[in-house]
Amino acid sequence: MPIELKPYETPEFTKKVDRVNLSEFMTLYRNWCKSCGICVEFCPVHCLSLDDDLKPYLNNVNACTQCKICDLRCPDLALVVAGKDKKAKQ
Ligand code: SF4
Ligand code: SF4
Repeated sequence: MPIELKPYETPEFTKKVDRVNLSEFMTLYRNWCKSCGICVEFCPVHCLSLDDDLKPYLNNVNACTQCKICDLRCPDLALVVAGKDKKAKQ
């Protein structure tokens, strides 16, 4: 039985919001990110940096503890971290 996608999970929508997986467990909605750098500042293990477009990326995926602080602090809901040992949406 095919899985029914919610409106925000359709390819058309994700293309529009420019969704990229930064790792197996972290998703960034680039169009929603305003490059404020709050996620970078609050990461307790300093494994987030801003790229040339001032969007966050994981500079050390192994250091990330999946604590979700960056996700919770992002004012624009642009960064989504799956719970520990869970994977990001494909
Ligand atoms: S806190 Fe959110 S809006 Fe700010 S740089 Fe990080 S992902 Fe982008
Ligand atoms: S989940 Fe935690 S450790 Fe991983 S990048 Fe975000 S704030 Fe840093």
